[in-house]
Amino acid sequence: MISLLEIKTEKPVQVIDITRQVSDAAKESGVLEGLCLVYTLHTTTGIVINEAESGLVQDLTRRLSSLAPPGDGYLHDRIDDNAHAHLQAVLLGNCQTIPIEDGCLVMGTWQRVLFIELDGPRRRNVCLKVIPAHAE
Ligand code: ZN
Repeated sequence: MISLLEIKTEKPVQVIDITRQVSDAAKESGVLEGLCLVYTLHTTTGIVINEAESGLVQDLTRRLSSLAPPGDGYLHDRIDDNAHAHLQAVLLGNCQTIPIEDGCLVMGTWQRVLFIELDGPRRRNVCLKVIPAHAE
């Protein structure tokens, strides 16, 4: 089973907690034991698992900006002026895989699935793919 999660971002850089949608997709799949792949279909977004605490979210976006600041003489900026967003996306990675046990995501108390917009606002799509541990 595969489902697409549509996200309409509203800011140039935005961190969006998609844990509930991922959890719902896992439950709706009916798979009791397996893996849930969360995979963004874009080159200027990231998927991470971390805490959604507001201060940490600001720390994250600030640090990404200092690691790959906009307009730093990038060659790709000749094309569409968003090289910094691509580079930040590479640092974050574009997917996460979460175990499913008893039909639920296996996650720690403070873990959240976070979608990170780095070149918004835009319409985005995240692929959710539930993979059963055994052939069903
Ligand atoms: Zn680009």
